[in-house]
Amino acid sequence: MLSRIKWLGHDTFMIDYENKVIYFDPYKLKEGLPKADYIFITHSHYDHFSREDIDKIVKNDTVFIGPEDVISEIKENKTVLAEIGKESKLDGFSFKSIPAYNTNKEFHPKEKKWVGYIVDIGNVKIYHAGDTDRIPEMKNLNVDIALLPVSGTYVMTAEEAAEAAMDIKPDIAIPMHYASIVGSTKDAERFAELLKDKIQVKIMEKEG
Ligand SMILES: [Zn+2]
Repeated sequence: MLSRIKWLGHDTFMIDYENKVIYFDPYKLKEGLPKADYIFITHSHYDHFSREDIDKIVKNDTVFIGPEDVISEIKENKTVLAEIGKESKLDGFSFKSIPAYNTNKEFHPKEKKWVGYIVDIGNVKIYHAGDTDRIPEMKNLNVDIALLPVSGTYVMTAEEAAEAAMDIKPDIAIPMHYASIVGSTKDAERFAELLKDKIQVKIMEKEG
């Protein structure tokens, strides 16, 4: 499954699995990418919910998944509300919404009900954490692959993200949310170094 996951920079990932194309938080997309069957949006900040980028990959039957303040903005397409803790079935796979919020800063208040996602696809559970700090809900998530923000400032620092990874205990942790708006590859490398001999970390090459 790992080879089906592409990092397009910042928090943007694309999964291409069994003729389904799934995006998370499309932002700063290049032209010519495959159209989306599903677009998961974690929250309404411009670098996660970008109309300009959505327009590059949307088609008539694209389904959007997002929290209330995102879904209310989608008029032309089918939507599925991301309700925290609830598991929803889509065509051939399922997903669950996990809270995403700050604990030591104010950018992402818990009351907004913004989310991360666990997508269960091809018997692999992939957790996209969204913009979050290390939160108690991360314990015992039982996922195979965890995509975790590491830049600091708006989200966890590399050190906090490494502790979060130890809570989550995925088979593979992938750093995200760096080298675009805030953070650099140094944050990703520090994250990997802190988890050395504990959890396998894959620093992805940015595609596109
Ligand atoms: Zn944000």
